Amino acid sequence: MSGTETAKIEVWWDMNDCPIPEGYDARRVRPSMERAFEKIGYTGPVSITAYGDQTKTPDHHLLALSSTGVAVVHTISESTRSVMYRDMVEWRGQNPPPGTMMIISDQVEGDFSWDLARLQQRNRYDLFQANSMKSRDDLLLVYYANWRWEQLLEEGGAPPPVANGLSSAAMFYCKSCNFDCQSLKKFRKHLSSYKHGLEEAINPPDTRLSCVTKTWARNYPATPEHATAKIHVLWDMNDCPIPEGYDARRVRPSIEKALKEIGYSGPVSITAFADQKQTPVHHLLALSSTGVDFSHTLPFRPFEMPVLVTSAEWLWDNLLAVSETKRHILHKCSESESERVVAASTGMFCCTLCLCDCKSLDDFNKHLSSKEHTKEEKRMTSHSQSFPHRQRQYKISNYYDEASRISSQDQTYEESSPEGVFSPEIITFY
Ligand SMILES: [Zn+2]
Ligand SMILES: [Zn+2]
Repeated sequence: MSGTETAKIEVWWDMNDCPIPEGYDARRVRPSMERAFEKIGYTGPVSITAYGDQTKTPDHHLLALSSTGVAVVHTISESTRSVMYRDMVEWRGQNPPPGTMMIISDQVEGDFSWDLARLQQRNRYDLFQANSMKSRDDLLLVYYANWRWEQLLEEGGAPPPVANGLSSAAMFYCKSCNFDCQSLKKFRKHLSSYKHGLEEAINPPDTRLSCVTKTWARNYPATPEHATAKIHVLWDMNDCPIPEGYDARRVRPSIEKALKEIGYSGPVSITAFADQKQTPVHHLLALSSTGVDFSHTLPFRPFEMPVLVTSAEWLWDNLLAVSETKRHILHKCSESESERVVAASTGMFCCTLCLCDCKSLDDFNKHLSSKEHTKEEKRMTSHSQSFPHRQRQYKISNYYDEASRISSQDQTYEESSPEGVFSPEIITFY
């Protein structure tokens, strides 16, 4: 935590998923949340917005909420999730970190957490959640705490005797009509009006979640601080193999050219991950002669697409063809290209099963046929057969370890690979 202890806390609460329990005094919602936050050291001002179909919420609850400074938002039930998310994104835009976000909802999985995880990667807020269901594993979002709704409600003491320090801002909102007011009477009148009914029938709020990060996977030009920074490429040769008849020595210049075209000119180190047994010797030699490291790993597929903000993405075949088209046009350039100093990588061979580095292909082959290696490979294979889930994690952990290693060495870095950019910061695998 950095300064977030006293930063503002914004709460988005889906009243349909997490309703006020029967017989519960709704004035206790705010102090309960405040108490829960205080217990873990968060003392910033708490702002709460309750979303739901408020035509179904009894008056005494709405009065209790508004009297304790909880903003009440009406929307049709099917749109609650998307309306809440839109408000969340808007809040993020207006409130740069530090800050704390709390989501009270049972519907955070899917696009919601995918998009939010990507937003978190750019601007990180402390994130909290409460839900009424049994807690599930959310692989995408990292929460600082995950509460059960009913437990959270029992945190607080007595409700405040009088409303104090409440702002005069609007307390009741109708998202269907963009209407707001400060009195429950006016709110009720609005919700039962013909105009409101018509608006909801004709033009209801969008029920689909609009993902703001979907357009992010574009090839943006390098920012100045990244233009000359080191580039590390983690290349999965199973997903993106060397095409039939393609000269593997052209992989490095192709990647370098593609990067250069969008302004990245830093030294490029490349590590190819593949099963050595499935990689022809001439490829291994071609790669190592162009300074591409080779990492022997068993062909396990990563189990999910990474939820990562990429600065650029290419189709593998397109990327490889980049140098080909250029070569036809610029014959002279391809000459100097081959004389180019091979930067950063050394063309080493590495066995990721035994964590063994070899400088030459001969040594590498010797290692791969050694007893120690065979034993290790057998152990890995039998292990992953009995635990299929492990297989996938194993491969990812190779990438992850590699990415972590690099990020701990370099202060500024931009990792690029045909598959995307890895951020050791946000993705966690257990
Ligand atoms: Zn309305
Ligand atoms: Zn080995």
